[in-house]
Amino acid sequence: MRDLQKERLAMVEEQLRKRDIVDHRVLKAMAKIPRQSFVPADYQSFAYEDRPLPIGEGQTISQPYMVAIMTQSLEMKGDERILEVGTGSGYQTAILAELCRLVFTVERIPALIQKARVTLQELGYRNILFLDGDGTKGWPKKAPFDGIIVTAGAPEIPETLLSQLAEGGRLVIPVGPRYTQTLYKVTRKGDHFKKEEITGCVFVPLLGDYGWKE
Ligand code: SAH
Repeated sequence: MRDLQKERLAMVEEQLRKRDIVDHRVLKAMAKIPRQSFVPADYQSFAYEDRPLPIGEGQTISQPYMVAIMTQSLEMKGDERILEVGTGSGYQTAILAELCRLVFTVERIPALIQKARVTLQELGYRNILFLDGDGTKGWPKKAPFDGIIVTAGAPEIPETLLSQLAEGGRLVIPVGPRYTQTLYKVTRKGDHFKKEEITGCVFVPLLGDYGWKE
């Protein structure tokens, strides 16, 4: 039998710590959360490999390193309210729920959000609110957010999301052409938005009113 706990700790050492993941809270959360619970049964033995995996509906769970670098870029201390666009499997959602006060997560594919809700409930999370719909519009009724994370690739940064950032808030989002993007971190200072490049990446498309058209 495979020891998935051991594989998880090896993933944290080899794929995260040896690269540039230095936030101890992020490393701790990734060492704790069972990624295998978020992937289809056929893929559970690959849960700690250095790559994305299919989760059905043509979507993927991101590579562990990508989850870690995006999470680290949000610079959470513990008291934040965070918006996530693209719940998918709910794995990134669980990491966020470990590290902040409240997670607001939006997903456009009902079958995925239903499955993620069950998985996250079974794991005991009580600080996550789910919305079934187009996350390119954000979640206006719950704004502003201390952080916003978009886990699908956008053609450009949606203004709607910038407007829902709190003062000092961070938006982490992959932006660029359909099949290859750059991960950006945007920080709000009053009416000014400071934009930094983090790394190259490949995400499934962000589909919606302020994303790619279907
Ligand atoms: N963080 C997820 C990644 C899932 S892939 C995980 O770790 O499993 C990206 C997800 O974004 C897909 O589930 C896709 O359906 C969703 N998505 C794409 N466009 C969206 C939109 N406009 N609003 C909400 N979700 C969207």
